This record gives sequence, C-alpha cells and structure tokens, in this order.
Amino acid sequence: KRKALIAGNWKMHMTVLEGCRLAAEIVASCKDYTDREVLLAPPCTIISEVSHILAGSKIILSSHNVCWEEKGAFTGEISPTMLQDAGASCAIVGHSERRQVFFESDEVINKRLKGALAFGLMGILCIGETLEEREAGNTQAVLERQVRKGLADVPASQMKQVVLAYEPVWAIGTGVTASKEQVQETHAALRQLISEIYEKDIAEGLRILYGGSVKATNVDELMSQQDIDGALVGGAALDSISFARIINFE
Ligand code: 13P
Repeated sequence: KRKALIAGNWKMHMTVLEGCRLAAEIVASCKDYTDREVLLAPPCTIISEVSHILAGSKIILSSHNVCWEEKGAFTGEISPTMLQDAGASCAIVGHSERRQVFFESDEVINKRLKGALAFGLMGILCIGETLEEREAGNTQAVLERQVRKGLADVPASQMKQVVLAYEPVWAIGTGVTASKEQVQETHAALRQLISEIYEKDIAEGLRILYGGSVKATNVDELMSQQDIDGALVGGAALDSISFARIINFE
C-alpha cells in the first residue's frame, strides 16, 4: 500500500513569525505515523526558518517551484541546490497558478521537474483542467497532455521521486470540491496512463494526490478512495487546527 501524503501549500502567505508559529503547531499535532507523510510548502523567503522548526520531525519541506540550473543568470529563480541549502527536499512544479497566472508551459514545467529530480529533490507535478476545458469535454485530453509533456524524458529510475497532484482548477479556492467518485475515476485513469508510459509497478507505486478545496470535513471520504493517495491543501493548511484534522484523516 502506498504511503499517504498530506501536503500543505501555503501559497503567498506567512511572514517568518507567522510561518514558524504555524509550523510549530503542526509539528506538535503530528504523531509518529507509519502510514502517512506530512509536507509543508511555505514561500521561499521562510523555508530556511521553517526548516529549523521542522528539524527532528519527519515533516518534509518543499518549495513552490524550482529552476533547472544550479546557478547563473536566472533572475527571479531559485536552484535545486539553493533549496537544499535552505533545508527543502522537495519542489512543487506546474501548479495551476504557475500555469495560469505566470504562463508556465508544459515544456518549462518539464524542465523544472527534471532539474529537481536530477539534484535529488522529490518533485510534485501538478496537473488539472480548467472549467472551460471540462465543459468542452477535454478533461482527459488535457490531463494526458500535461502528464506526457510534464514527464517527458523522466527516466523510470527517477519515478520514485515523483508525486502527481491532480488539482482541477475549478475546485481550487472555490469551496467546490470534486466528488470522491469523480476524483477516484480520474486518478484511476491517470494511473492507467502512467502504466502505459512506464510500467505497472511504477504506476502502482506512484502517489496521486488530490487538491482543490480539501477541508477537515471532506478529507475522510476522499482518502477512503483506492487511488487517492493524499491531499494538496491550500486554504485549510493555513489554520493549524484544520490542517491537523486533515493530517489525522481516518
Ligand atoms: P485550496 O485548498 O485553497 O482549494 O487550494 C488548493 C491548492 O491549490 C493546493 O495547491
């Protein structure tokens, strides 16, 4: 059975003080789990400070993005080794906000993912259709394109470092959650696609997270589904009580 992963994406929130306080509260509410992992993704300005709070806990620390180069003239970017130096071991890539607000293409996202993996970071590849794409009946085609292009030239040997996150854009920050049946069906199709691109064992081992208005009140039913291996949580991860409840899903 795949280990569950509950990830908190803090997006563009939290000062040093606020972030350290939230991280400390989350550390305090984590038990010594064997069946699940917890991940926090604070903004990069506070990764280093939060890493000190997480020291000694098993909580994984992630960035929101990553460059593929180690150093150089890449204004506005952060390299995999800089993230490791700050204490992170994971990078999210292809978040819908990166795709939609900052026009990141599948090609750029693929370079970012390969960069993260090459330096030994774990990479969370986010995919998801917009409402327009869903209503036009293009959901499967969009997800397949994002997966195939996002994973282009990622060798099977690095797939252990990869997590897939399905975040339908229409469910992000809207309070509208995709139904557990809808998510389960999509995740099963994604797993099938991965087994076609790679092989069955890799598909079976791959964790597929769901993101989009995950809350304390819907996490249990989402996590009861066979192919939902975790959650990528935005808004509800900013409150320690609700995030603690999500981590401790039943
Ligand atoms: P919300 O949980 O606020 O809908 O955000 C989801 C998300 O984008 C996590 O990456």
